[in-house]
Amino acid sequence: MSRPGPIGGQREAETEREFLTADVPGAPHLALAELIAGNRRFVTDALRHPNQNASHRAAVAAEQHPFAVIVGCSDSRLAAEIIFDRGLGDLFVVRTAGHTVGPEVLGSVEYAVTVLRTPLVVVLGHDSCGAVQAARAAAETGTSPSGHLRAVVDAVVPSLRRARDAGVDDLDGIVDIHIAQTVAAMLESSEALATEVAAGRCAVVGMSYRLAAGEVRAVAAKPAELVGTLAPAA
Ligand SMILES: [Zn+2]
Repeated sequence: MSRPGPIGGQREAETEREFLTADVPGAPHLALAELIAGNRRFVTDALRHPNQNASHRAAVAAEQHPFAVIVGCSDSRLAAEIIFDRGLGDLFVVRTAGHTVGPEVLGSVEYAVTVLRTPLVVVLGHDSCGAVQAARAAAETGTSPSGHLRAVVDAVVPSLRRARDAGVDDLDGIVDIHIAQTVAAMLESSEALATEVAAGRCAVVGMSYRLAAGEVRAVAAKPAELVGTLAPAA
């Protein structure tokens, strides 16, 4: 199994060509390169819409081999296949408000990683996240929302504490901490995921997406060196 490594410009171009015509990136760093290449196409308005035609639909009907799991916020502006310019069978997507992670989310991730052998898990948050805003408002006012919304807010509270301890109080800074916290919490809570990562078969990357620019940047990764393979924020 290939080990994660840095992604140079030429190498990235080669892998992009290969994966748009062939199939599935099998190593974490190759899957990450493919996602980043797709996001760059989205940012620069050079979409290719791979794997969205009828022949590909037929080709993947029998079985799926997605190359990345996306655990993203449910925000309507964060549609995974659009912002990474991918198609059918490429991404295994789990979305909750504020990318909060409970047993069903972890079970879905474990299914993708251990059964489908997906080599990359991405936690995808974004600037101006409403779930983080709601949690911060609840903390500041000492109130708690009613119904099941409370579970979302409660799941963000540990990240608020972490931000406060780090002296971070701007919303987007808190979002980045919440993304990193989600990566850490998933690895702590899922022995199956941690085992795959330790074996080098899978990596977990936390990404922050900017709603206006359409660009992702890495804020956390396991293994950590994968962060350096992503483009800096614009
Ligand atoms: Zn959000």
